[in-house]
Amino acid sequence: MNNELIAAIATAPGQAGIAVVRISGSGALDILKKVFSRKTRYESHKLYYGEIKKADVVIDYAMAVFMKAPHTYTGEDTAEIFCHGGYAISRSVLSAVLDAGCNIAEAGEFTKRAFLNGRIDLSQAEAVSDLIAANAALAAETALNALSGRIKSDINNMREKLLDFIAKIEVCIDYPEDDIEVLTAEKIIPELIQIINKIDAMLKTAYRGRIYKEGLLVAIVGRPNVGKSSLLNAIMGESRAIVTTTPGTTRDTIKAAVDIKGLEVNLIDTAGIWQGGGEIERLGIKKTKSIIEKSDIILFVIDNSTSITDDDIKVYKDIQDKAHIIVINKIDLGKMIDNELINKNFKDSKYIHISALKNQNIIELENKIFEFVGVNQLGKKETILSNVRHVQAVKEAKEHLSDALLSLEDSI
Ligand code: GDP
Repeated sequence: MNNELIAAIATAPGQAGIAVVRISGSGALDILKKVFSRKTRYESHKLYYGEIKKADVVIDYAMAVFMKAPHTYTGEDTAEIFCHGGYAISRSVLSAVLDAGCNIAEAGEFTKRAFLNGRIDLSQAEAVSDLIAANAALAAETALNALSGRIKSDINNMREKLLDFIAKIEVCIDYPEDDIEVLTAEKIIPELIQIINKIDAMLKTAYRGRIYKEGLLVAIVGRPNVGKSSLLNAIMGESRAIVTTTPGTTRDTIKAAVDIKGLEVNLIDTAGIWQGGGEIERLGIKKTKSIIEKSDIILFVIDNSTSITDDDIKVYKDIQDKAHIIVINKIDLGKMIDNELINKNFKDSKYIHISALKNQNIIELENKIFEFVGVNQLGKKETILSNVRHVQAVKEAKEHLSDALLSLEDSI
C-alpha cells in the first residue's frame, strides 16, 4: 500500500499546554532526526526531551517519541512530537516536519492507514470517530466498547461457526464416498437458531445504542404558561450543560443539551411557538407536531394550579401515542390535580408532580426519563450496536439466516 510519509497536528486547534504533531510512514525516524535535536540512538516507544529546529533555528523545546512498526496506531513507523500547544507554535513545528520531507495528512488518514494495515477493522475505525465525537460518558463508553473489538469478536465468532458449516457441507457434497460426519439439517437447525437469537439480542440494543450515541431528544410541550421554560431552566440547573458547536436557539424554540448521569439529553422547549395567536399560532401547532414526531420522549407539562383544561386535552391528543411523561407543575401552589383526575383524563400515562420554580422533584423526573428509555448505568460492559451501518448489516444477516433456517426446516 501507499506508505508515503504523512504528518499532521493531531490535537485540536487553539491554545493548550501541549499539541501533538504526528508523523507516519517508513522514514518517520529520519524526519524526526532532521527536526529534533537529539542525535543519539532512539529506542522505540521511549520519550525524549530536546529542541525542535527549523532551518537551524530553535523554534520550541519539546518531547518526542519514535515508535517502530508494527506496534503503532497506523501499523507503520510513527513519530510524535509533543510541542507547546499554541496555534503559531504547533503550525511552525508542523511546517518544519513538512519541510523535512512529509506530506500533510488528510482528515482521518492515520485511522485509514490503521484500517488498511489491518490494525483495526471498520467497526473500530468508526468507533474512533464516535469516541472523538462523544459529548457524554455513555456515548464514549459505547464507542470504547466497539473500539476494544467487542463487536468485531462477537460477529467473528458467529461468522466462523457459519463458515465451518459451509465447509462441512461442501466436503459432504464434494466427497460423498469418504467416511466423514454428515452434517444433517437436524444438527444445523439448533445451532442456527442459537445464532439468530444472538443476533436478535444484538439488534435489541440498537435503540439504546442510538440514544447513547446521539443523545436523547426530549420535547417539552404544553399550552402557554404551564411552566415549560421554567422546567427547562430547572433541568439545566440540576445538570451539566454540554457545549456543542451547533447553535441551540432558534426564533421560536430553545434547545439545550445537558449531561444527565452520563447521557446526553437534548431538550427542546416549544414555549415560543405558541406566542402570537391566529396564523402564527396555527403554524406553531404544526411545528410542535413535527417536533413531537421526531422526539424520543415528550414531557407534557400541565398546570396544577388551574386544573386540566380543554387546551391540555387537545395537546394530549397529539402526544398520547408517543413515549411521554405528564409533568404536573406548580405543586407549590397547592394540589388541584389529583391521581383520580389524571387517570380519568390521561389513562395509562406515566406522571409526576413537580415544581419547576422551587426545584421540587426535578431529579425524580430525570430518573423517570431514564427508566422510560431503559438506560443502563455507566460501567455495564455489553455489546451495543450504535452505528446505523452495523444495524443494517446485522439485520440483513438475520434475514439470510432466517431464509436458510426455513429451507432447512422444509427439507426435513
Ligand atoms: P411556559 O409558557 O409554559 O414556558 O411557562 P413559563 O415557564 O414561562 O411560566 C409561566 C409562569 O408560571 C411564570 O410566571 C413562572 O414563573 C410560573 N411558574 C412556572 N413554574 C412554576 C412553579 O413550579 N410554581 C409556580 N408557583 N410558578 C411557576
